[in-house]
Amino acid sequence: EDKNVAVKTGCASIDKILKGGFRIGTLTEMYGESGSGKTQIALQTAVYCGTSGCVFICTEDLFPVKRFNQISQYVWHDIKDTECKKNIFIEHLTEAHELISCIRVRLPKLLKFNKISAVILDSVAAPFRCENTNYVQRAEELKELAILLLNIAQEYNIAVICINQVTACFTGSDDVLPTLGLVWSNLISCRLKLTKTIDYRELTIAFAPHLSNAQGAKFIITKNGIED
Ligand code: ADP
Repeated sequence: EDKNVAVKTGCASIDKILKGGFRIGTLTEMYGESGSGKTQIALQTAVYCGTSGCVFICTEDLFPVKRFNQISQYVWHDIKDTECKKNIFIEHLTEAHELISCIRVRLPKLLKFNKISAVILDSVAAPFRCENTNYVQRAEELKELAILLLNIAQEYNIAVICINQVTACFTGSDDVLPTLGLVWSNLISCRLKLTKTIDYRELTIAFAPHLSNAQGAKFIITKNGIED
């Protein structure tokens, strides 16, 4: 475990298999069904960034302020609601072109003038949903976004964490696959899968050159956040 190479989630089992957390200088994707815990992990990671700062870009729901404050208060104890958000920069955009412009123009400014160790995008999939879109344009925008995010991760040496949605797998199994296709998956450095059963949730490594994907990390979600 090395604080200088990873941004931790604060959940011991997950940080252990990720060798400290989300690797800086790279692009990590978390995918899994709705309710599997992606946003909770992202929120807790933002909380643990603490004074190291974080940019949280929402493209679906508005930023869950109450839940963020609840986890912050558990992690940082006496912290006041007003102090929780001091080191987190929240953006909310729904259209692909707005998102790209935010990553291209606004994000570098935030990164230049503030101490920031992670950029979280929840989700990358929503602005690229297929409805009413030109497929060629959509693929080009997605590629542009992935390259911008990867460059930012490398240039500013920060962890970039993207949440992706899933689509049913039509092979007869009830497995699910991440959306967005090959162009996207070729540009991400690490892909993590989230699943849930009645008793627990699990994060497994789908691919990551720097990690061994032997065992998944089991966790639960409580009022305090994500825990072993
Ligand atoms: P997604 O994978 O869709 O992003 P989330 O990360 O939002 O899913 O996880 C949602 C789940 O987190 C809920 O179904 C619930 O089980 C759990 N959860 C959210 N808030 C709390 C809380 N305050 N106390 C306990 N569990 C919670």
